[in-house]
Amino acid sequence: MYDARQINAPGRYAVDTRSDTVTRPDAAMRAAMAEAEVGDDVYGEDPSINHLEVRAAELLGKDTALFSPTATMSNLAAMLAHCARGEEVVTGTGYHVFAWEARGASVLGGLAMTPVPVAVDGALEAEDVARAVKPDDYHMPVTRLLSLENTHDGRAIPMDRTQAATEAARAANLATHLDGARFFNACEALGVTPATLATPFDTVQLCLSKGLGAPAGSLLVGASDVIARARRLRKMLGGGMRQAGVIAAAGLHALDHNLPALADDHARAESLAREIETIGLGTARAATNMVWADFGEAAPRVARAMAEANIALKTIGHARIVLHRDIDDDAFDLLLKTLRAA
Ligand SMILES: *Cc1c(COP(=O)(O)O)cnc(C)c1O
Repeated sequence: MYDARQINAPGRYAVDTRSDTVTRPDAAMRAAMAEAEVGDDVYGEDPSINHLEVRAAELLGKDTALFSPTATMSNLAAMLAHCARGEEVVTGTGYHVFAWEARGASVLGGLAMTPVPVAVDGALEAEDVARAVKPDDYHMPVTRLLSLENTHDGRAIPMDRTQAATEAARAANLATHLDGARFFNACEALGVTPATLATPFDTVQLCLSKGLGAPAGSLLVGASDVIARARRLRKMLGGGMRQAGVIAAAGLHALDHNLPALADDHARAESLAREIETIGLGTARAATNMVWADFGEAAPRVARAMAEANIALKTIGHARIVLHRDIDDDAFDLLLKTLRAA
């Protein structure tokens, strides 16, 4: 049985490349949290949460937003808000809502989930989406929602690919949801505004605790009617929090201050991938803030060197190295030095 619990001392690793979820709130963010105005959010009285929800809706050009503790809960509430029991969600085989959320939409919500293959660039093909939609036939579930993801495995999916898939969905009367756990990484890489990336979708989930550095929190952004249904579902799922403005304040701080640094993470990923190939350690590809590396025969040497330097590295076949706010210039230099030594 997989159990990720460890007795971690803070700062256990010199550099932690496993994920951008490992960031810890910095002093400025903690100060913002300490000063947060709070109230009971189930009564709609937490000013910090209300402020964050308005801010996110404005940023994405939608009516309103809903704050949840996790991206998983936002995605689940979104799918259940769009679909009734027995209805069907079309998504990608490797997309998070299908592959990494314990199939909550099916188990807890009674939704059918139909995955279609994910193309090399991370998109779903419009033809596959169209083909997945069921005809009006009582042998089959009613197809109701297309759920996309951007970025996927770090890849920023271009607007034209997104538009082709969402147009196929609209032609079949499906609603559209975007799992944007790394929404702002996609905006940065594509050079588009949040409102532009959000335009093809009825709802967008964005996560505050990945590259943005907040300790927790996700926003579901969309039209008033669907967000109102999601608000009831959030309560049902146990996500109605009370004085959670202390967490929302971290999210507000992240939106105000931490977006520009995403470009630094992307630049470091580019230079890391180039360096791995230049020193002949293997093949590597950068995708926004991630580097996918195949160290080949050098893999055991790399693993040993990383362990000796107290650098955490996640290997799932290929190595996935994730750059984030807590990998600053010094940490990045240590990472490069360790790879060169290997
Ligand atoms: C991490 C992630 C999620 C879930 O985030 P949690 O905060 O762990 O619930 C959802 N979708 C994608 C694409 C992710 O990368």
